[in-house]
Amino acid sequence: MREYAPEASFASWAFRFAASQEGVARVLSGMNTVEQVMDNTATFRDFRPITEEELGIIRQVTGIIEKHTPIPCTACSYCTHGCPKGIAIPEYFALYNSISRTTGSFSSHAVYYNNMSLRHGKASDCIGCRQCERACPQHLPITDYLKDVAAKFEAGSSFPTRK
Ligand code: SF4
Ligand code: SF4
Repeated sequence: MREYAPEASFASWAFRFAASQEGVARVLSGMNTVEQVMDNTATFRDFRPITEEELGIIRQVTGIIEKHTPIPCTACSYCTHGCPKGIAIPEYFALYNSISRTTGSFSSHAVYYNNMSLRHGKASDCIGCRQCERACPQHLPITDYLKDVAAKFEAGSSFPTRK
């Protein structure tokens, strides 16, 4: 993306992609700075639909991201509000994904997981009520993923966790 359009922000790629889809009437954005507001308004002031060539670049990028993101969670946290066990679902998924991008030891991830699980439910505390899955806009099989998380972080753990 940088090579193809050095001046274009990543947000402008995303907006142009979203707004170019058939049937899309509005594109929403969260903005934290005036610079982001300026960038976004500039994108739509001179709106250019995404081209086939640019779509090919986006596909390359998403392929790279997907390869290193075994759990496609977007960290919206809609799933956590009704969890009777207070499981830190998106945080655990982010840790799990982070490991897949780590080449060396993941001992720091294990420490972070265990610190988190002192304040939240562990992945293995899940009782399978599936409230979270009904709330997830990505329709992720959260309960299955939590089993993967538990297998990764809790097997043979020598750290204290919340009872
Ligand atoms: S299925 Fe597990 S993670 Fe999901 S809401 Fe129920 S206890 Fe929480
Ligand atoms: S609702 Fe789904 S996408 Fe959102 S944080 Fe939970 S698991 Fe991730």
